[in-house]
Amino acid sequence: MEFEFAALPWQILFGAGALQRLPAELDNRGLARALVLSTPEQRHHAEMIAELIGQRCAGIFDQAVMHVPAATVAGAQSLAQSLNVDCTISIGGGSTTGLGKALALKSGLPNIAIPTTYAGSEMTNVWGMTEGGRKTTGRDNKVLPTFAIYDPELTLDLPAFISGPSGINAMAQAVINATAASPNPIISALALDGIRALAGSLPTVVIEPHNIEARSQALYGACLCGAAIGAGITSLHHRLCHTLGGSFNTSHADTHAILLAYSVAYNSAAVPLGTQRVAEALGVADAANGIYDLLHQVSKKTNLQHLGLSQADLDKAAVIATETPCSNAAEVTRDRVRELFDHAYHGQRPSG
Ligand code: NAD
Repeated sequence: MEFEFAALPWQILFGAGALQRLPAELDNRGLARALVLSTPEQRHHAEMIAELIGQRCAGIFDQAVMHVPAATVAGAQSLAQSLNVDCTISIGGGSTTGLGKALALKSGLPNIAIPTTYAGSEMTNVWGMTEGGRKTTGRDNKVLPTFAIYDPELTLDLPAFISGPSGINAMAQAVINATAASPNPIISALALDGIRALAGSLPTVVIEPHNIEARSQALYGACLCGAAIGAGITSLHHRLCHTLGGSFNTSHADTHAILLAYSVAYNSAAVPLGTQRVAEALGVADAANGIYDLLHQVSKKTNLQHLGLSQADLDKAAVIATETPCSNAAEVTRDRVRELFDHAYHGQRPSG
């Protein structure tokens, strides 16, 4: 065995009711003027934070949207300056966490992340920003949240149609790392337990959204999967999802959720041991088919036609995705990628 491992400086508070610790945690760090960030839909969550932290809240910016547009970052940055804030608090999914990260990158403002989906962005040092239709991404430890509060009570009202795909999106971060060409054993341990926790909880989460035990397990799984990709790698699966999201504006979580089974099938012959471990974590005989079945249990969007894509779009996407080299366990060829898209377009059972 031979490997290298560098953890990120994560700080996590996890548990039902953990949100109540926020005021004391701000005081411990001398943070006294926070700008609370949310999407327009989660304004009520931002107001709840404002009430909880009282005079430590300098204001609310509720305009976070998908893909972190540069104009949104500029708007939040100018409000942060005018209010003379000393930190930001993101409450929401990956879009809101992403805005907090962009502000940390541009202004050095510490960010506290309070995730309410399973996106896992709070565990990574990856930032992204979109300008003129182009998304730029990078890795920088400056954007890693100062601390993250995982409170499953905040996820009880996350609708089933977001919970299911968001959970499989999280799982993708782990699956890709457990099935890397040379899996890192520490990252694999995080990844496999994350997969186990999500596979065991997501079917319950979508039929009993207020089941706090299932919600806790799912959020714990998301935390581990985020850690796996935060310390680990991306591969062909992410390339394909970013191509569809970037060029055809498909929803982030749904795209990951639909493609994952086919991405696993694509690589399974190249990495049989890692793929078998993923199957064991899922509690099934075949990893790709297990993910396919899980998707059908937890989401109504199960093929690329459900995301509005046409076969002509997929011809273009296969070209874009294979224009530059992509690190992946199995060789990446345009024909195989096009075939993968075809299987996902028809939503057919994956075969290795
Ligand atoms: P999102 O943040 O856009 O949230 C989707 C919708 O769900 C929003 O309207 C949001 O307000 C709402 N919502 C969130 N939590 C809720 C709750 N508890 N109750 C009710 N509504 C709630 O979607 P997402 O899938 O969480 O994040 C996707 C974005 O995150 C993408 O842009 C993706 O690129 C980014 N991302 C980045 C990283 C990273 O490491 N940088 C990792 C994962 C995802």
